[in-house]
Amino acid sequence: MNRLFRYCPHCGAELEQADESRTPRMRCGTCGFVQYLNPAPAAGILVRDDEGLVLLVRRKFEPFRGLWTMPAGFIEYGEEVAETAVRELEEETGLVIEIAGIHTVESCRDDPRGNTVLVLFEGHVKSGKLEAGDDAEEVGFFSLDSLPEIAFSCQRRVLQRLISGVS
Ligand SMILES: [Zn+2]
Repeated sequence: MNRLFRYCPHCGAELEQADESRTPRMRCGTCGFVQYLNPAPAAGILVRDDEGLVLLVRRKFEPFRGLWTMPAGFIEYGEEVAETAVRELEEETGLVIEIAGIHTVESCRDDPRGNTVLVLFEGHVKSGKLEAGDDAEEVGFFSLDSLPEIAFSCQRRVLQRLISGVS
């Protein structure tokens, strides 16, 4: 997908290639606007129960509809990173989580909506009742030996490291 604007979102003038940068950027010759392309930040949580099973949700919507992920979502403007993770998890699974720390940070380059950076926390269930909600079709705890098909390369890498005992 070509993510570069053709017209300035501020003044409507046609954009031109800005050539002083190694990264391709579009610039407005009229008002000076430069379109910087950055990955979108997302936050999620790795939750493991007492037996080490991992909490996963099955995606109800595209992209990767029907595949599974650790609960995660895009950070809203003005939201704290950890707040996003807790909110997404509660919306998708009904569980309220206490964050213990950051598990890892990963770049994800196979989301058709654009590149993302995933801040993945880890935490434990504080309260709530496990129930699929919002954009989750199903929720469940899975053994690392028998994971379902996982969406997003960054999520697969994280789980693969858990399987190999690296993290
Ligand atoms: Zn402009």
